[in-house]
Amino acid sequence: MDYDVIVIGAGPAGCTFAAGLRQSGLRIAMIEKQDRAALDSPQYDGREIALSQRTIDIMDRYGIWQRIAGSEVSPIRAARVLDGHAPASLDFDQRPRNRQPIGRLVSNHVIRRAAFAAARQTPDLTLMDGCPVVDVTPGAVRSLVHLEDGRCLSAALVVAADTRFSPARRQCGIAASMHDFGQTMIVARMTHTRSHDQVSWECFFYGATLAILPLNGQASSIVLTLPHHLAREWMNMSANDYARSIGEKLGGLLGDMTLDSERTAYPLVGVYANRFAGDGFALVGDAAVGMHPVTAHGYNFCVTGAEALARRVTSAARNGRDFRARKLLLAYEAEHRLRTRPLYEATQKLVQLYTAETAVTKLARKLVLEAGKRFPPARMAITSMLSRPAI
Ligand SMILES: Cc1cc2nc3c(=O)[nH]c(=O)nc-3n(C[C@H](O)[C@H](O)[C@H](O)COP(=O)(O)OP(=O)(O)OC[C@H]3O[C@@H](n4cnc5c(N)ncnc54)[C@H](O)[C@@H]3O)c2cc1C
Repeated sequence: MDYDVIVIGAGPAGCTFAAGLRQSGLRIAMIEKQDRAALDSPQYDGREIALSQRTIDIMDRYGIWQRIAGSEVSPIRAARVLDGHAPASLDFDQRPRNRQPIGRLVSNHVIRRAAFAAARQTPDLTLMDGCPVVDVTPGAVRSLVHLEDGRCLSAALVVAADTRFSPARRQCGIAASMHDFGQTMIVARMTHTRSHDQVSWECFFYGATLAILPLNGQASSIVLTLPHHLAREWMNMSANDYARSIGEKLGGLLGDMTLDSERTAYPLVGVYANRFAGDGFALVGDAAVGMHPVTAHGYNFCVTGAEALARRVTSAARNGRDFRARKLLLAYEAEHRLRTRPLYEATQKLVQLYTAETAVTKLARKLVLEAGKRFPPARMAITSMLSRPAI
């Protein structure tokens, strides 16, 4: 019941962090409320995650990437942003130069499965599945973790990776700013009669946003974002009506559409924790930074944040230093804040700009796209912010 590190949550962030500790020599407990069967074979949840090259490199080092079959990776070769129903679009196209894809999509359940399998390879890791954590007491020497079944564990360092609504964050007294966007994102896999040509689209129609994420074959993940009250209507439509309505919204771009999966609805809330660490306690993943998905940085931040903490903890443990030292945790916080804060703020502003319907915001949107068309560096920055690929 006594460990060096306790990780709360065996999602992508918790598992990536645990995999990052594989050479630390520490005794680790990973606690997860879902049971083992759900962790070994996670259900499809509609999310298609756009991965940056930096993320893939870390996944590769941690033994996660090798567990993902090539057939489960969908390359994106170009990105296009459309504002309203204006005929002009902003393009970011690598194809003429035949370069590397600008992003790669992998389903979230595939990532979860691979990250969990990699974390299980970390020596001296005890998995406690089907075990919700009900309370955490951080301490200057040891931190305590209470489980629903009455057990109490202790560790030098507790790392919370228990979602953006992290109860552990609150129990450790860390405040977070939360922003409810008042919108719901509906995701579903669809097949279509026309090719997507491996181009991702972000279409900012007035009142709703529609994204096309090109998957292998004649299939795409269609991401519809709209105000909560309208989302209910779209979720309740029959499969045929939904497919027809999406096809109409896209103006026939992908031909005839067919719904190929369940629809999953995600209410959109952005979260940024005021601190990422305290005495004997740290946050990783969405518990630290919960992004709006439009700029596709959430999981990428999970991985880079988990790596930034695991690297420091491993180095300290291997060199006989205090791996929960305040200085070490503050250095992790500073690195992760520097990487995430500007993009978090920029994403919040962009979402406001692209969902408000005033004359001023419409003009501002036009100016942003115009700037993108005229200046190539601006074009790259804007398409990478507004479209899915994590360039
Ligand atoms: C529609 C959508 C599309 C997205 N697209 C992208 C994208 O293209 N690119 C990108 O980078 N990111 C994307 N994201 C974001 C990405 O999915 C998240 O950032 C990432 O999954 C968060 O991982 P996590 O491990 O922090 O949290 P989670 O995945 O929420 O995992 C948390 C884990 O903790 C467990 N847990 C919770 N409470 C307890 C408890 N009390 N006790 C024990 N266990 C507990 C849960 O069961 C779960 O397993 C998208 C998100 C959405 C919603």
